[in-house]
Amino acid sequence: MKVDNVKKIIINIGNIMEENKSFLSELDAAIGDGDHGHNMAKGFNFVIEDFNNNDYDDLGLLFKKVAMLLISNVGGASGPLYGTAFMEISKEFSGRDELNISDLEKILELSLKGIKLRGKAELDDKTIIDALQPAYLSVKKDLENNESENQVLENMVMAAEKGVEHTKEIIAKKGRASYLGERSIGHQDPGATSTYLILKTIKDNII
Ligand code: ADP
Ligand code: MG
Ligand code: MG
Repeated sequence: MKVDNVKKIIINIGNIMEENKSFLSELDAAIGDGDHGHNMAKGFNFVIEDFNNNDYDDLGLLFKKVAMLLISNVGGASGPLYGTAFMEISKEFSGRDELNISDLEKILELSLKGIKLRGKAELDDKTIIDALQPAYLSVKKDLENNESENQVLENMVMAAEKGVEHTKEIIAKKGRASYLGERSIGHQDPGATSTYLILKTIKDNII
């Protein structure tokens, strides 16, 4: 896919964040400060606004712009975390103007690396990582096994969804929800949920 397709997918991610704004903020209200949906929608609205006014022919510059807009406009923890993911991706794809399915593995690997480096969370800390890491591992395994593009994408989303479900059973160890300790059990993590929604949007826009 060309830069304009990537741009469209990111715009759609923004639309999905806007649609799920209340849902994500309600999840956050149960174990945090109730702003996750608003943070995500706000950050991506800046991106949509920029994309509507600027053309990009280099994926590195496109991803870097997303990173900078998320980092500088989102007050919550999620802005710098997702922003760092886009920043790591931007370095890898600098000078490129096309992506294919095998790049998805690199994109997820770099996102995971950036978010872990920035947030110091590991699997089972009840964060974004609990959706992103299983999704990455699923894509890696499926590409190694030469699964079809559709299968790779479907399994990726299923792995993320399972990860989100699992966050209901575990204690938050990072972010505001960690202040609740055991009382965070029984609640779905908002950040893992937004990661699932982002991955699902990617799948829905490719298949
Ligand atoms: P804030 O908590 O600052 O209000 P948000 O509500 O936008 O920020 O985002 C909260 C989400 O961020 C959590 O649900 C969690 O998934 C994610 N998160 C918080 N801290 C970390 C971290 N250190 N690493 C990865 N994800 C994190
Ligand atoms: Mg919050
Ligand atoms: Mg907040």
